[in-house]
Amino acid sequence: MAKRTRAIETLAAHGAPSPGDALQPPIDVSTAYRFADAADAAARFAGSGEGEIYQRWRNPTVDAFERGLATLEGAEAAVAFASGMGAMASVVGAFVSAGDHVVAPLAVYAESAKLLRGAFDRWGVSAAFVDVTDPGAVAAAIRPETRLVLTETPANPVLALTDIAAVAGVARAAGARLVVDSTFATPYHQRPLEHGADLVLHSATKALGGHGDVLGGVVAGSAALVAEVRDHGVRSFGAVLSPFAAFLLARGMKTLALRMAQASASAAELARRLEAHPGVARVSYPGLASHPHHALAQRQMTRGFGAMVAFELSGTAHGALQAGRRLYDRVELIARAVSLGDTHSLLTHPASTTHASMSVEQRGAAGIGDGLLRLAVGIEDVDDLWADLDAALAEV
Ligand code: PLP
Repeated sequence: MAKRTRAIETLAAHGAPSPGDALQPPIDVSTAYRFADAADAAARFAGSGEGEIYQRWRNPTVDAFERGLATLEGAEAAVAFASGMGAMASVVGAFVSAGDHVVAPLAVYAESAKLLRGAFDRWGVSAAFVDVTDPGAVAAAIRPETRLVLTETPANPVLALTDIAAVAGVARAAGARLVVDSTFATPYHQRPLEHGADLVLHSATKALGGHGDVLGGVVAGSAALVAEVRDHGVRSFGAVLSPFAAFLLARGMKTLALRMAQASASAAELARRLEAHPGVARVSYPGLASHPHHALAQRQMTRGFGAMVAFELSGTAHGALQAGRRLYDRVELIARAVSLGDTHSLLTHPASTTHASMSVEQRGAAGIGDGLLRLAVGIEDVDDLWADLDAALAEV
C-alpha cells in the first residue's frame, strides 16, 4: 500500500527528528566540537565525515529548525539566519555580483527595498522596482544582466498577491532565479516552491516563531541553492541564528497549523465584519470576493488566506489621517505595535509610523491611504477582537 503523505498539522507537531532518543531537540551551545583524530578532522573539513566543526558552520539545534521548516515547505533543504533581513541580505548577496540587476516589488517590506537601494546599489547591483502583481511588468523590467526576481506575497501592507507560477515562468525564461518572501502566508497557507519559485524566504520572527519572543529568518529550496546561500550568508557574512533562538523557533513551529487555523479564520471573519461597517471605506483581505486577486488567492493559497487584514477608514468627520489616528488610539485589547504572527493581535497605522517618511502622494501611489490600518490577527477570541474594533470605530 502506498505510504500516506502526512498532513501539515502532523508534520508541524512533530518537527524534525532529534538525534538519539530525545523527543525534543536539545539546545547545543558548544561553539567548537572535538575531533577524534587528524583523519576525523580532515574528513569533517572535506565534508565526507560525520560530525560538527564550529557553530557558525552548523549546529544541531539550528539544524533541527532548518529540517523542520524544509519539511513544511516541501523543500530539500533550508538555512536559518539571525533575522529575516539576514536571510534577505544573504539570498541577494549569494547570487549577484557588481553589474548584475535585480527585479523587486514596488510594494515590499521597506527594509528590503532599502537594502537594494542602499548597500547593493553602492556595490554596483542595480534594481528595478515594478508592480510584480503584473507578470508583464516583471517581463518588461528584465535585462540580460538580471539574476534575481524578488517578490513578497501577500505583500506589505495592502496584501496584494503575486502570481508565483506566472512570475516563475518569466524568471526562468530569463535565466534568473525567483525568490518569494512568504512571511505573511507561512507554509500553512502557501508553498511557493510548488508553484515554481527557486527559493522561499521567511522572517521566522513572525508566525513561524509565533510568540513574539524571538528573531530569525530562513530560506528553503533545492540543496544546491541552499548550500550557496548558507556559504555566503552564514559562513562568510555571519548572520548566524543562535541555538537558543533556533530552539524557540522549532518549538513555536510545532503549533503553526493550530495558530494559523485560528488566526486566519478570525481574520476572515473580521474582514467580513469590517467590510459591512459604514465607517470603513475599503477592506483588503485575499479571502474577500472584493479583493482584486481573490481568484489567484484561491488557486495559490490553501486552508484560508492568512491572518493579515488591511482596512481604510472613510474619515468623513475628521479626514482620513485623523480617523486613522483616532482608531489607533482607541483600541484596547489589540496592541499598537509593529510585527505580526504573534499570539497577540497587533495594529499599525502606516501613515503615522512605517510609511510616515513618504509624502501623501508617494503613499497614495503605493496604495497606502492616510486612513489605512494594518491588523495582524492573533489567536484571541474573534468576538473579543470585534468588540474592541467596533467600540473604537464608534468613536472615530
Ligand atoms: N519580510 C517581511 C515580509 C517582513 O514583514 C519583515 C519584517 O517585518 C522582514 C522580511 C524582515 O524580518 P526581520 O524583522 O525578522 O528581520
